[in-house]
Amino acid sequence: MEQNIKSRVVGVDISIKRTTFAIVDIRGNILARDHFPTNEYPNVNDFVTALSEKIIMLTEENGGYDKIRSIGVSAPSANFLTGCIENSPNLPWKGIVPLAALLRDRMGIAVAVGNDGHVTALGEHTYGSAHGMKNFIIVTLGHGIGSCIFSNGEVHFGVDGFAGEIGHTCIKHDGRDCGCGRRGCLEAYCAEKGIVATAREMMEASNEPSLMRSLEELTPRSIVDCCEQGDKMAIEVFRITGETLGITMAAYATVINPEAIIFTGGIANAGHWLFDGVERTFNEHVFHNIRGRVKLLRSTIDDRERDVMGASALAWGIKEYSLFK
Ligand SMILES: [Zn+2]
Repeated sequence: MEQNIKSRVVGVDISIKRTTFAIVDIRGNILARDHFPTNEYPNVNDFVTALSEKIIMLTEENGGYDKIRSIGVSAPSANFLTGCIENSPNLPWKGIVPLAALLRDRMGIAVAVGNDGHVTALGEHTYGSAHGMKNFIIVTLGHGIGSCIFSNGEVHFGVDGFAGEIGHTCIKHDGRDCGCGRRGCLEAYCAEKGIVATAREMMEASNEPSLMRSLEELTPRSIVDCCEQGDKMAIEVFRITGETLGITMAAYATVINPEAIIFTGGIANAGHWLFDGVERTFNEHVFHNIRGRVKLLRSTIDDRERDVMGASALAWGIKEYSLFK
């Protein structure tokens, strides 16, 4: 019977451009991985068919599908409590998509879905810098801003599963348009598009020279490159972004009183260009009794592995599926 022990899970990360999936063992080792373009599947049923076939292929080539216990999926706008992707502004599939049920019916094993923040929090708690912490906040900085609150050792979902949507809290009345349809959200200032918008506004508002003006593509990464070359305006873009983020994080910490806020995602790679500003305004605005007690940390898990590792932690945490139970 030993060959039937289900000692592995599959972690799946669906992002707008690419879907990555990996076989992960009980120690958190990635045994095999593969990826394919998400946007080649405008119909979600075709996507689920492709994903199922590719998971079967990868697992059969690497020790067999019968060793797989369950599947965890990280996806934008996913709701763990319903198993659905709900009204994602960025994915090609509109409305409510019951992804966990669709995939479970194809694969015959348990499937759970979670959003970026939730899944990343599980990954950090299991394998990363939140190991051993019971109260912390994860903030993912990338295309959007996600977050997850870990409270007394468990994820705090809220009544509908949407707790932690800090990216869509309003920081400026009548501010910039946000992908969610409202205006002035934190995300419109401190996520990818927001940082680029700040850079554009600054370039338009003055005639000062800046390396950013000659960039072929304006992205947070290319703006960081300008910072590294000493470009004043680029440094200013990240200073303003960091200060805005720091003020919001001070409010967040004042409400939640976490042991740490852990930042992950591509924009966290901006390093001190971003976090000097974050720390400055955070310490200035956080409630005095917790000042100096909240650690501001960056994830220690490799960017390319973070989401599938988190998704695998999600998979381990759910009950095995059986038609006979
Ligand atoms: Zn918004």
